[in-house]
Amino acid sequence: MATASTAIEPKVKISATKLMIGGKWVDAASGKTFPTINPSTGEVITQVAEADAADVDKAVASARGAFEKGAWKKMSASQRGVLMNRLADLLEKNIEELAQLESLDNGKPYHVALAADLPLTIACYRYYAGWADKIQGKTIPVNGRYFTYTKHEPVGVVGQIIPWNFPLLMQAWKLGPALAAGCTVVLKPAEQTPLTALRVGELIQEAGVPDGVVNILPGYGPTAGGAIARHMDVDKVAFTGSTEVGHLIMRAAADSNLKRVTLELGGKSPNIVFADADMDQAIEGAHFALFFNQGQCCCAGSRLFVEEKCYDEFVEKSVARAKKRTVGNPFDKATEQGPQVDQDQFNKVMSYIESGKKEHAKLLAGGNRVGDKGYFIEPTVFADVQDNMKIAQEEIFGPVMAILKFKDIAEVVERSNKSNYGLAAAVWTKDITKAHAIADGVRAGTVWVNCYDVFDAAAPFGGFKQSGLGRELGEYGLANYTEVKTVTVKL
Ligand code: NAP
Ligand code: MG
Repeated sequence: MATASTAIEPKVKISATKLMIGGKWVDAASGKTFPTINPSTGEVITQVAEADAADVDKAVASARGAFEKGAWKKMSASQRGVLMNRLADLLEKNIEELAQLESLDNGKPYHVALAADLPLTIACYRYYAGWADKIQGKTIPVNGRYFTYTKHEPVGVVGQIIPWNFPLLMQAWKLGPALAAGCTVVLKPAEQTPLTALRVGELIQEAGVPDGVVNILPGYGPTAGGAIARHMDVDKVAFTGSTEVGHLIMRAAADSNLKRVTLELGGKSPNIVFADADMDQAIEGAHFALFFNQGQCCCAGSRLFVEEKCYDEFVEKSVARAKKRTVGNPFDKATEQGPQVDQDQFNKVMSYIESGKKEHAKLLAGGNRVGDKGYFIEPTVFADVQDNMKIAQEEIFGPVMAILKFKDIAEVVERSNKSNYGLAAAVWTKDITKAHAIADGVRAGTVWVNCYDVFDAAAPFGGFKQSGLGRELGEYGLANYTEVKTVTVKL
């Protein structure tokens, strides 16, 4: 564990713990609450109101009301952008507090939240604020004496269900395009990390966003989340989380009102290192690709394919790097890795480590719990991993690196694509021909060349195959929040 000497004491006051419905902070209809836990200690931070179907009904009615009449409906597109920029300013003003709250509830290092999560979150709101008054249709030449044009109208009331790995950022990816397009929202944060979503609710009010435009309902997936997914008056649902729940969301949409569905799901992303790569860069890049955010990234480079010619050197140096990774108090500047988000995720990751050992992958670093409280796991490296092993096929979502050996381009492309997932991929090489061969051959929504986890609000992100449906971010992400209306006028 990192030493306590450089640690700071978080100084957050937690003011928002209820449901935000129609601009009011209210208890759940059932009166129930649930605890949110500090993953560094396993202790309860606070109790939060627990939404269920009755609260979802109220929130959807409020979002419907705000969508169809009132200030939001009448507001100009550019004024929506002004409000979103005001929200971004408020996030910036409260950046340290928000980063502390994110770190406390999720376990990610505070200095990482401050340097990565918060700036990306703020940039996302600003990016979509810019789009608000630039969403426009076309005029279309048609046969006959008619004038035909299209309007891109907001899709309506949107249900948004988000995960715990990047709570603030996932909220921004969802709210940004929805608000720019003029939709209204019922958002459910993950049960593990409700606190920053609620705090942003307060800032949304402070920014002057009209009541009912954004409703925030902390609660559990099968209850509150399920009620959103099958609600007859929700026009679209946007979900980020596991592929398993993604299937449930689509089914609920099919069984209810055919609401539009976008899904951002899991991955088992190939990260491919050729022997001609800048080795130090590739080793550090692969370390970051896997261990960033405690390994809890949908796009983690979790199948690390290394060319035979450099395999031994790469493995040796990657193991040394993993052994140097500092694990400990998220409020310590020296900490690179905090705890996993909760007991369930901790257990799941530990069971994958057991499975790797049982299937005789070579365990070269880590493999154990760190300390005796909280959910800390040693940075773990398995080498000589085979394609058919469970740790090479399933999403681990933790600090467990799996290194596989390959010989040539055709082989590594084929093996990369032998997966139900297709979220991201990366290649490390100085040879542009090899880089393009991978970018062309791998079936994935994002390909990084000599870099990893480079995100920008303008660049679309999403999955092929069972990694998802639709894209988030950029103009592509916005398109999922509009309906195209064709108007034809007889001349
Ligand atoms: P999850 O269950 O898919 O959770 C994601 C969100 O969906 C949460 O808000 C969750 O609520 C909600 N949800 C769960 N069941 C639902 C249902 N039946 N109907 C509607 N909403 C529902 O993911 P998890 O259990 O936290 O993590 C499991 C695995 O999912 C991880 O190990 C990882 O492999 C993957 N995952 C992927 C991402 C990603 O970024 N793509 C993020 C997180 C997890 P609750 O908070 O109550 O569960
Ligand atoms: Mg928590």
